[in-house]
Amino acid sequence: MQLDPCPRCGRAVDWAERGRRPLWCSQACRRAAYEERRASASGAIAVRVVERDKVTERVGTQLREPTVAECVERVLASPRACREVVNGLTVKAVHGRLDSGAHAATVAAIERLVQTLINSGTRPVR
Ligand SMILES: [Zn+2]
Repeated sequence: MQLDPCPRCGRAVDWAERGRRPLWCSQACRRAAYEERRASASGAIAVRVVERDKVTERVGTQLREPTVAECVERVLASPRACREVVNGLTVKAVHGRLDSGAHAATVAAIERLVQTLINSGTRPVR
């Protein structure tokens, strides 16, 4: 019996109709998909299994990692993502992880943001 194509490579998936329905065409794709899901959890785009054995979809159209510029564009387009980045930076600051040299430019940028908000009188709507 032929099942839905492999969600990773699109090749045919054969099933002998015994045991568990396979999702992947091969061990190689199964392992690679596992690695890609792990990578996807850390921000890279990969194949996401939506409903096992039934529906699969590709997240994005490519399997390459997005560039930093693409990630920034997506974050800036989402108020929630912006908030989460700021909250994440706050957590780093609370734990003293923003004072190393690597984040000096980040801290300067945050100071510019805060000063800009103060100067423009921007206040959150409550
Ligand atoms: Zn495959």
